[in-house]
Amino acid sequence: MNAPQRPLALMNALTVDVEDYFQVSALAPLIDRASWDQRECRVERNVERLLALFAQHGARATFFTLGWIAQRYPELVKRIVASGHELASHGYGHLRASEQSRADFLLDVRRAKELLEDLGGQRVQGYRAPSFSIGYSNPWAFDVLLEAGYRYSSSVYPVQHDHYGMPDAPRFPYQPRPGLTEIPVTTTRLFGRNLPAGGGGYFRLAPYRLSRWAIRRVNAVDQRPAIFYFHPWEIDPDQPRVPGTSLKTRFRHYVNLGKTEARLDRLLRDFRWGRVDEVFGLARP
Ligand SMILES: [Zn+2]
Repeated sequence: MNAPQRPLALMNALTVDVEDYFQVSALAPLIDRASWDQRECRVERNVERLLALFAQHGARATFFTLGWIAQRYPELVKRIVASGHELASHGYGHLRASEQSRADFLLDVRRAKELLEDLGGQRVQGYRAPSFSIGYSNPWAFDVLLEAGYRYSSSVYPVQHDHYGMPDAPRFPYQPRPGLTEIPVTTTRLFGRNLPAGGGGYFRLAPYRLSRWAIRRVNAVDQRPAIFYFHPWEIDPDQPRVPGTSLKTRFRHYVNLGKTEARLDRLLRDFRWGRVDEVFGLARP
């Protein structure tokens, strides 16, 4: 007798924001942008480790890559594409969308898209704003993304947070403008509030089983795919420490860096993972 067929688990979307440890928004006040060129870059080896880890689990992902990084590491961009992952944009210079004029934002997102398309040889459809910085103050950013030729964004985090967040935004993909889909990072709803469930600092801070519970809940209760994000520097406990950080920033940035790779390994084992364009039906034939 044949064993009963188990329905195939939902595929979730795995995303990486490709930037280096000195480009993180929370550290921006302490790091002069002019010094970026002189800093020890670690992003290349960290992304290489991620590519190996993903390959081991047969997982595919979307890499929201900073133009500044792509320009310095063209081979890295090519490796991401050759490994079957989706190349997407994190803008050029890691400036929050909410801190730029409309004209400057257009230049930044266009420059990143052109650069990534030249290097990757594929159309770039997706954009993620640094620090989820599309919110109440700058809905025009969606018009700019359309103007620059993007088809989707993952730039709104419907949670309450001191640096970002739009707690009453939709939790699941929606069209803020015809032709543009916003795919919010995953939250789970508990006691009338949205709780972050899609990675970032929370994944390092809280026990792994909490993330697993939340993603399972979104898959089972909401019957929706989750979208999860993290950064290459989060698997790098040996990164240089930035002096002068506040206790809160230090904690958020450095907590459990040494445990993240093992946790990712479990996450990749416990769920099925794919690219944003595939999971959300945006892939072009
Ligand atoms: Zn970023």
